[in-house]
Amino acid sequence: MTSATPLETDSVIPAPPAIQIRDVTKTYGDGRSRVQALASVDLDISSGEFVCLLGASGCGKSTLLNLVAGLYRVDQGSITTGDRHIGFVFQEPALFPWLTVAGNVEAGMRFRRVPRAERQARVGELLRLVHLDEFAHLRPHELSGGMQQRTSLARALAQDADILLMDEPFGALDAMTRSVLHDELEQIWARTGVTILFVTHDVREAIRLGDRVVLLSSRPGRVIGDSPIELERPRRLDSPEVNALAGEVTALLRQEVRRHAG
Ligand code: ADP
Ligand code: MG
Repeated sequence: MTSATPLETDSVIPAPPAIQIRDVTKTYGDGRSRVQALASVDLDISSGEFVCLLGASGCGKSTLLNLVAGLYRVDQGSITTGDRHIGFVFQEPALFPWLTVAGNVEAGMRFRRVPRAERQARVGELLRLVHLDEFAHLRPHELSGGMQQRTSLARALAQDADILLMDEPFGALDAMTRSVLHDELEQIWARTGVTILFVTHDVREAIRLGDRVVLLSSRPGRVIGDSPIELERPRRLDSPEVNALAGEVTALLRQEVRRHAG
């Protein structure tokens, strides 16, 4: 007799990573203007993990994120995300100025021809998730920076995202708003189980948010550190534990920046 019992051996096969980056190299331009942005980057990110990618300005963080999103092509190596859907949150919100908050979140779903009733239900759900349900009818210019980034986050999630790529999304916000958004993003992550690759040059922000912090060197960018952050959640940006770890990581990064300054 056949039975629907799952094979026991299934449970011992490790799940493939949500994002697998293997030996990735990326160079821009040629001749004298040639810049090697990334050299031989290897990184595995598990499903549901929250990884912060940390490095100095110009070290190749955005390049790596754009490669994972498939916006740029690798010169060498490979990036695998399986059939997972990717949502992208940029530093600049890049919202459609003529659409409302709800319209911006809905835009990608219209494009994918999701039926109207389903779209509206999903938009409502997402706006509640990012605490914008009362502001659905506003247009981008009527929003604060924090509200614009919440809209961008909802829009990225509306892609049925399994993976969220976030490129310094809170870099332009004031400290208070930023800290509120850290809390909210952490709650959304816990609730949805989405995999997050979050780019920042802010050491404390990386430690506040990440399950792991991955350090990228400069010119070319390579992975020079990869540490689990074992502090209990939710963490506080200004807690002594976060500060102590931030001190260690900053010392490493300073060495790295100095190595390239001379
Ligand atoms: P980060 O996001 O860490 O600040 P980027 O990935 O934007 O770094 O850039 C890495 C390096 O590649 C920098 O030296 C930058 O000037 C260069 N770069 C980035 N994008 C381009 C591009 N489209 N054309 C030429 N050079 C680029
Ligand atoms: Mg960048």
